[in-house]
Amino acid sequence: MVMLILRGHSVWLGGAAAVGRGGVAVDGGRILGVGEYSDLLGEFSGAAVVDLPDCVLLPGLVNGHTHLELSDLGGRVPFEGDFTEWVGRIVELRTELGDDIAGTIGAACEASLAGGVTTVGDISHENRARAELAKSGIRKVAFAELIGLREDVVGPLDYLAQCVWERSDDGLMRVGVSPHAPYSTNRKLYEAAAECDVLLTTHLAETVAEADFLRDGSGIWPAYLKRIGRWDGSFEPVGVSPIRYFLGMELSGRDFLLAHVNYADDEDLALLAGRGHSVAYCPRSADFFGHRNHRFREMLAMGINVCLGTDSLASNDSLSILDEMRFLRRRYPQLEAETILAMGTINGARALGWADEIGSLAVGKAADIVAVAVSDRGIGAEDVPADILDGDGQVKLTMVGGTVVYRGDG
Ligand SMILES: [Zn+2]
Repeated sequence: MVMLILRGHSVWLGGAAAVGRGGVAVDGGRILGVGEYSDLLGEFSGAAVVDLPDCVLLPGLVNGHTHLELSDLGGRVPFEGDFTEWVGRIVELRTELGDDIAGTIGAACEASLAGGVTTVGDISHENRARAELAKSGIRKVAFAELIGLREDVVGPLDYLAQCVWERSDDGLMRVGVSPHAPYSTNRKLYEAAAECDVLLTTHLAETVAEADFLRDGSGIWPAYLKRIGRWDGSFEPVGVSPIRYFLGMELSGRDFLLAHVNYADDEDLALLAGRGHSVAYCPRSADFFGHRNHRFREMLAMGINVCLGTDSLASNDSLSILDEMRFLRRRYPQLEAETILAMGTINGARALGWADEIGSLAVGKAADIVAVAVSDRGIGAEDVPADILDGDGQVKLTMVGGTVVYRGDG
């Protein structure tokens, strides 16, 4: 690999740090230097230069929660107020459409890279996506989904053993396990997952229906679970909120990445704050389903690590975390740009257990870098974080581990 310097209009390193006329020197897949371009050129003379004079360079964006295998369902199933109806339609459509998993995952990875996403936390039913994900230049945690509420859930346990046994961590891929959610997956499966030495994620406190079901067995879930044969009555309502139920399982003290957490009361938040779990907030997907007033700002203030996810294209318009951050900026104009950018970068890296390698531009870290066009070359470095979110500049280049994996026009 040839040593090179990406030369941008500016560099946003993470936090409050931005450098005008900046660049990033890269060699062997790692960041050799970050700072003013003229200094880098002096230090690394002979490096090839990639000129991006109208772009800010920033750490690769992290999509903490997605289901890439549903990417061909984009816009096909509108939400009409009943989550079980919607899930049922998605499952039906999945069957009707047949299965081109290779084409779907390949296209979804390309779309992610074009949106500046360098790392995905992807959940796949029966782990079908993993082999296809491995072929892409994107960095990924491939989570195998575990699901089963019946007492006789032996199948998923065999499958779990196989998932972990077949683990194939390499430079760009790590494996994980995802017990689906407390309303679909029993404690036995959660405990088995927590015993595995892999990354862990689960859906939690996503809907009001989930809370109803766990509290007293009411709401729309039991009928749906019966209809699809996943209900044998062995699961007893637990009488508490999804978050209190989840935290009460203990699960060997393992940290999970909790997807959504759309519904949390004060006690839930206080309990979460004392633990090491992260939250993947999916702003546009939450909006699609009508979940309002996510408490991510309070979570951040309490020290809970909150990252961003797109969820799947079945409930979102794109797989771009840049789009997700811009949506959040419009929805919460008072929120500091740096906070939103952190959610899309370093917080995602932490949530996926990868913060030592990615999430900020620092010497020695992996060279996962995105170049986004600035709205005006005349702006100063201090205005760059806001410009990334308030402007509509597109991604011009995406680099993962020192390899250019996407080039935009111009
Ligand atoms: Zn999900």
